[in-house]
Amino acid sequence: MRNFVEIIARKRDGFELDAAEIAGFVRGAVGGTLPDEQLAAMLMAICIRGASPREAQALVEAMRDSGSCWHIGDECPEAVDKHSTGGVGDSVSLVFAPLVAACGVPVVMMAGAGLGHTQGTLDKLAAIRGFRVAASRKEAIDRLHVCGVSFASQSEEIAPADKKLYLLRDTTATVPSLPLIVASIMSKKLAVGARRLTLDVKCGSGAFCKTFPAARELAGALVDVARRSGVEVRAIISAMDQPLGANLGCASEVRAALGVLGGGGDHRLRELTVELAVEALVLAGRAEGAARAEIQKRLSDGSAAARFDEVVRAHGGDPDERWLSRPQRSVVVTSRQGGHVTAVDAEALGWVAVGLGAGRRSQDDVPDPAAGVVVHARIGDKIEAGQPLATLEVGGHPAAIEELAARTAAAFTIGAEPVAPTPLVLARLGNST
Ligand code: URA
Repeated sequence: MRNFVEIIARKRDGFELDAAEIAGFVRGAVGGTLPDEQLAAMLMAICIRGASPREAQALVEAMRDSGSCWHIGDECPEAVDKHSTGGVGDSVSLVFAPLVAACGVPVVMMAGAGLGHTQGTLDKLAAIRGFRVAASRKEAIDRLHVCGVSFASQSEEIAPADKKLYLLRDTTATVPSLPLIVASIMSKKLAVGARRLTLDVKCGSGAFCKTFPAARELAGALVDVARRSGVEVRAIISAMDQPLGANLGCASEVRAALGVLGGGGDHRLRELTVELAVEALVLAGRAEGAARAEIQKRLSDGSAAARFDEVVRAHGGDPDERWLSRPQRSVVVTSRQGGHVTAVDAEALGWVAVGLGAGRRSQDDVPDPAAGVVVHARIGDKIEAGQPLATLEVGGHPAAIEELAARTAAAFTIGAEPVAPTPLVLARLGNST
């Protein structure tokens, strides 16, 4: 067997690695026998060189098998999982899980922390006082029985390879790699073992895939792995050419989710959540029209909101909104000119949120739940000079506010002519497409 430096060099030079070499990389990551610098070098080599279909499949399997597999589908065949490829202002999962459960379909969700400029579901859940994700198969199944939802995360027990590599990718600029994203998402989904999966593949300035062809390729790759593994899957490619909801940041996104669960809230966040929930109910065998009607009913009759409280309590948390952190101060960023918002650099705004402390800059960082950005202007809006574009919410982290405010202003393009916002749903892929 070659030593690991030779294996990194082969990947760097464009040779295909075999399954044993990939399994060795994953074992070394989990067992601590490979140092972070070698793991990071391999991640960068994969990021730059890509992976062949055989390498990609070997990586998914090695990462899936790096810990135990829960086979949740054996216990709860109707359970559905959901995942987003990562976006900005995207608190869909917090609404989706209780909403779909309130419609009678259990949700087991293997969630992720923030990655790069995106904010992750785990960090948002951590903003809820006392919230603890399921740490074992038994806990996951108990929670499904109690409230119809179980949130879980990569741990020493399940998908430990993704736990390790996820953090390393986050701090080594190796996130936007198709095979690494596919392996990260699908290894943990397959380790949990729900038989149905709803995917939200983001496309645009705030996504890891900036163009539609790239998002289509990622969606196709995710759907292929799911299908080959016997998982029923439906995917939406959704617009991430501006933040999805107006709120970026952990506590602030929980509040945004509560707004939608309460029957109001941000219209774009609500619209995409409804579309993904429809996909989940269709996977569960419902007709689309009936699914849509039931989802609207659960949002308006209070049952989705009530289910959220049950889900939080079943995870040891306190659903009282008053416990959510609040910023210590706010800085409003205004437009220097009047006109129409023609583009928003969602990635730039995501990095501003990270700069305020809402994400990680190093592996040991803990996101500040109070920090974030509230977006006031969206593509298509007409604005006057001096009108607010966004508010920076400053928590306890030291941050270069003036520079972040300048970057925020620069994230908005103001033009003379109005433009229409892109539709939220760009494409759908499913078992039969
Ligand atoms: N979500 C994940 O879990 N992993 C990625 O790499 C990207 C989004």
